[in-house]
Amino acid sequence: MNVKAKVAARNSLLRKLANSNWGADPKTLRTTALALSYSTAEYSSAVWARSCHAKKVDTELNNACRIIKPQATALSYGRDNTTNEAIQPPKEQLTPGRELQRKDWVTLNRARAKVGKTASTLHKWKLRPNSECPCGNQNQTMDHILSECTEGPHCTNQDLRDCTDAAQAWITHWRDKI
Ligand SMILES: [Zn+2]
Repeated sequence: MNVKAKVAARNSLLRKLANSNWGADPKTLRTTALALSYSTAEYSSAVWARSCHAKKVDTELNNACRIIKPQATALSYGRDNTTNEAIQPPKEQLTPGRELQRKDWVTLNRARAKVGKTASTLHKWKLRPNSECPCGNQNQTMDHILSECTEGPHCTNQDLRDCTDAAQAWITHWRDKI
């Protein structure tokens, strides 16, 4: 039963694509995931689908999903139980913004999930002496830079979910900062 190892190897390729700055936009990643990981995992699966090892392959397929869809990770962490309107309910399709450049797409999804490298996060990680924002606010959280900071434009969760012009202006301002 070698399928798990095979899919794992293909996932590590996928991860390299996803983590590069030059690269792969979300659509390409999804196509690549389907072509590389899913095709291997499902090849002749009718033969072994009932095998007790089938679950191991599922683990690797979940990894493939996580690589191509950063939001899936954010969702499964489930920050808290309140509804985050920036995140669309699970769907077969990638969320709006999928045509953006990789870096913008990553920034968008960090904003949606509220997990970016803000001063507050860096301070928590002990990579900064304080969590001050250049605007003077004592605690630069993602919510702060989305809705109150005087250093850049603002946008709402709804804007983020639909990837509106306001969201894109926000991304352009913050993409190299968080
Ligand atoms: Zn600020």
